[in-house]
Amino acid sequence: MTKILAISDVHGEENENLYTYLNNNDIDLVIILGDITDFGPLEFVGTFIEKVADCGVDVIAIPGNCDPKGICNAINEVSFCLHNNIIAYGDAILFGYGGSNETPFNTPGEIQDNKIYGDVFELLANYDYVYNEKVPKVKILATHAPPYNTEADKLESGDHVGSQGILKSIHEFEPQINICGHIHEAKSLSKIGITTDVANPGMLKDNGAVLIDVIDGSNYDISLISLDE
Ligand SMILES: [Zn+2]
Ligand SMILES: [Zn+2]
Repeated sequence: MTKILAISDVHGEENENLYTYLNNNDIDLVIILGDITDFGPLEFVGTFIEKVADCGVDVIAIPGNCDPKGICNAINEVSFCLHNNIIAYGDAILFGYGGSNETPFNTPGEIQDNKIYGDVFELLANYDYVYNEKVPKVKILATHAPPYNTEADKLESGDHVGSQGILKSIHEFEPQINICGHIHEAKSLSKIGITTDVANPGMLKDNGAVLIDVIDGSNYDISLISLDE
């Protein structure tokens, strides 16, 4: 059994409730879903990740569109940057893709949606190629941008601004879980079709987190939690 806690959109603001939660609960891995900084400074990345790791957990992270250049190196200095990468963790297999599709704000970590599609497609396809059905794994796609037209990408205005590329890849490869961030007000747990749970924890400062309990390679529980409860 593996317990994974996903948090997102730190924007340089720590939340003491996170450390309290990690010290009081049996979590194996924390995944940070990007926008760790608020356009820098990169020094915050090491300080923050080390403080999280000091609670006795493994830490993996991806960059967000509001993180500056050099973010993957800063993550790799203290933990593991999952951007455009795959890692097996217990009975889960984690696929990571940071940054976001284009925004009106011209932020540093924006990637054209057709490139996101190509890259995420390749990540998931590479795993399909080596997949061994005798050793099932829960497929978790960790992205900063949410998939288009879901609860996770909905602005207050009701407009959807997520990534069509991520949505398309999810339709094609049907990972069991997509954890994502980026749209701060879209804290949600919803579903794409019958196959994929989509969870956006919202901002860390608002106490949002997603708890994934990987029971074995085919079974898991997922829930949205509040770190202050
Ligand atoms: Zn953000
Ligand atoms: Zn963002």
